[in-house]
Amino acid sequence: MRLILLGPPGSGKGTQAQRLVQRYGIVQLSTGEMLRAAVAAETPVGLKAKDLMANGQLVPDDIVVGIISDRIDQPDAVKGFVLDGFPRTVPQAEALDELLKRKHLKLDAVVELRVNESALLQRVETRVAEMRARGEEVRVDDTPEVLTKRLAAYRSQTEPLIHYYSERRKLATVDGMMTIEQVTREVNRILAAVGALEPQAAPARKARGAARKAARPSAKKAAKSAKKAPKAAKQASRGAKGGKTARRKAAAAARGRGTGKAKKTVKRIVRKAAKKVTKKRAKR
Ligand code: ADP
Repeated sequence: MRLILLGPPGSGKGTQAQRLVQRYGIVQLSTGEMLRAAVAAETPVGLKAKDLMANGQLVPDDIVVGIISDRIDQPDAVKGFVLDGFPRTVPQAEALDELLKRKHLKLDAVVELRVNESALLQRVETRVAEMRARGEEVRVDDTPEVLTKRLAAYRSQTEPLIHYYSERRKLATVDGMMTIEQVTREVNRILAAVGALEPQAAPARKARGAARKAARPSAKKAAKSAKKAPKAAKQASRGAKGGKTARRKAAAAARGRGTGKAKKTVKRIVRKAAKKVTKKRAKR
């Protein structure tokens, strides 16, 4: 599984990345963390990055691309990774595309965590207070002044990536204002929907079953779509006379399999059936 979490500072990328690491055994590649480690260790990269980071500015693209390229090659990244804080500019995204192509790796999804800007300052303040309470060292760029600059950098340099990935049909957006738990659920649902959870070696049928199970909506949603489904199924089977498969699919949907796929299938069947009826009427 390989994915990117996209979102402004304080949108919850780090929290969600950690949850993905725990659940799927992939690694979190956070350029922010790596750069902070480089600064602390006073490596040549760290020395170049230090002042830029403290000012809320971005570190040059070639530096972060180099860091990520090396990190992806490490053995622990074989199972997959979640990129958090990278790419942050269009040239970084282009470099990542090139890099993955060269390594014969596929990106499964880019998940954007969308949040209200007004909530971000409060979130960062809470994070700072919690870090202080745990006796941890607070980041030098976690001040209201630098946060404003980081947000400006996000808007001008990182936000264009939303368009970049949506054009490439990779983008999924999640409401980052929901609870942590709800966001996690939504991210998992997206991963299932794009097929990122399918175990490579498992037989195809088993894998499809697992993906369907993971994509199953909440009990409440399922009950709601189950309520709607009989009507759609009835319409479908009325119109699609003789279509055994169509009827079977519609009946399955009516039994309450309210997955997005089932809903789409019902819609398709209904559309097809309606067309047939119109044709028949035209003949009469
Ligand atoms: P944030 O909470 O703002 O998302 P991060 O921990 O991801 O913070 O990054 C902190 C700082 O590290 C950034 O403000 C920037 O200076 C630098 N940085 C991190 N990732 C990148 C990147 N991909 N490109 C350029 N600079 C980066």
